[in-house]
Amino acid sequence: MSTVATDLRQAVEDAAAHLYVWALKDIPQDLRDALAAAKDRETSVPGRRVLETIVKNVDVAEAENNIVCQDTGIAVYTCRVGEHFPLHPAKIYEALKIGTERATLNTPLRSNAVHTLTRENTGPNTGYRLPIVHWDFLPGWDGLDVKCIPKGSGSENMSFLKMCVPADGVKGIKQFVLESVVGAGGKPCPPGIVGVGIGGSADYAMFLAKEAIARPVGTTNPDPEVAKLERELFDLLNETGVGPMGLGGDVTVLSCHIEHADTHMTLNPVAVNYQCWAARRASAHITPDGHVDFDREF
Ligand code: SF4
Repeated sequence: MSTVATDLRQAVEDAAAHLYVWALKDIPQDLRDALAAAKDRETSVPGRRVLETIVKNVDVAEAENNIVCQDTGIAVYTCRVGEHFPLHPAKIYEALKIGTERATLNTPLRSNAVHTLTRENTGPNTGYRLPIVHWDFLPGWDGLDVKCIPKGSGSENMSFLKMCVPADGVKGIKQFVLESVVGAGGKPCPPGIVGVGIGGSADYAMFLAKEAIARPVGTTNPDPEVAKLERELFDLLNETGVGPMGLGGDVTVLSCHIEHADTHMTLNPVAVNYQCWAARRASAHITPDGHVDFDREF
């Protein structure tokens, strides 16, 4: 689908309003394929029943134009802004916020946002520093890519960070990821995507783990060493027996994605961010003249 708007700020706002609802209702094809394949390979009876129910849930949501899960999450956006895109990031943020509010009120969606201490609702899925927006700025380009990742609390609560020491090596990374996923059990609504962030600093490792869960199932890290670790962890995680919804089985994760950054010689941060089976994401590409193309990737 594509649209054209003459007001660029309005185009970004309309795109955000569409992305949030679209992501919640219509999960991407790579995820549907992964869930269907998981259903076929699962040998435990309860695990298979869970996967059959999930696949049916996705189909019913589509047939009834409804959301796939009641938890509409917190709206997380990733923006890639070209150097020559003619709308300032402050205005992009404003548009994303208003678009999120419009989607919440007009659909309507459950409003999850609260003050972190008083727990009072702060508005239609917005508030102080909500939505969360991650920025990337690209030289020599005039476009804007926006990806919306509604993040449910069941999986976000199962986020873990460990400042491993360099001597722990790859073995320590594997051990921490396995301990995290086994410890989480059925809480993050498995099987989903396990995102692992390695390197950088403590906060950046967690950001990288979040970036990892937003990649399509089937993608691999371009670094061959990292891609090898993705495969090894995928196999190890599926040998844990946690299974669908933690009821035991062959399929604990649909995919394991790693993003990495170079780090200090005495640092080895490892972050795990879990994404549930409802691994929702939707993207839009916006040109300087307000043309919007919607797709699932970037
Ligand atoms: S973790 Fe995911 S599937 Fe489970 S309740 Fe939350 S959004 Fe829904």
